[in-house]
Amino acid sequence: MKRTGEAETTAHFPVQVRSTEYSEGQSEESRSVHCSVAKGSVPLERCMSCERYVSLLSTASGAASLQCRVPSASAEAEGTPDDLGTRLRTTPVSEVMTAKVTCVDSELNLDELAHVFEKKHIRAAPVVEDGGVLIGMVSKSDLVRGCTHDEEDEEDALEEGGHFPPDCLGVIVEGIMTTDVARLVETASLAEAARMFASRGVHHIPVVTKDDVVVGMLSVMDLARWIASQAEGPADR
Ligand code: SF4
Repeated sequence: MKRTGEAETTAHFPVQVRSTEYSEGQSEESRSVHCSVAKGSVPLERCMSCERYVSLLSTASGAASLQCRVPSASAEAEGTPDDLGTRLRTTPVSEVMTAKVTCVDSELNLDELAHVFEKKHIRAAPVVEDGGVLIGMVSKSDLVRGCTHDEEDEEDALEEGGHFPPDCLGVIVEGIMTTDVARLVETASLAEAARMFASRGVHHIPVVTKDDVVVGMLSVMDLARWIASQAEGPADR
């Protein structure tokens, strides 16, 4: 990969973690890194055998980051623009998304899904098939609707904070998930993300590779926090 005489610089990339929850309490984790050389996510195992790899580091928050040597040209920003609009158009969602995402298998029953939501403190999760390919999205509201068709029961169940109606026998995630799912490719800009939040009326959008493999999740709050962090201007960041 490295060419003789090539100017290099050290880069740090956050390790993206996708955990997938299966029936009977089984789960699987997959790690990847958004590589500036490959211009997309690559599996962490591939990084470990890359000749540019230097080390894996743990951050104070417990997240991991990968250190490697990349061509200077691939890491150089073209100068940080002063105005927020340009920064929104040039910052990719991969830099702002939550890189730790919980996904679920479509065959989970609703009790198991409720348990995942409670255990992980989440309200929605991408539904994936083998390899992490996105096939749907499922939320707490879908879960409650899957158990009852009474709107009052629905609201009561949500207010009870995770005490879902038990009469869900035989219903699985595949039967309640949304399949017309908004998604953002990891290289999409924050401006595209903002447009999608507005047009789809959603609060969370899965971030995927060009092959539709889930690598993160972007929320309206992630975007709002990023905009707030820009308020002081690029010189103060
Ligand atoms: S180790 Fe290699 S593949 Fe991994 S991020 Fe660095 S340059 Fe890309």
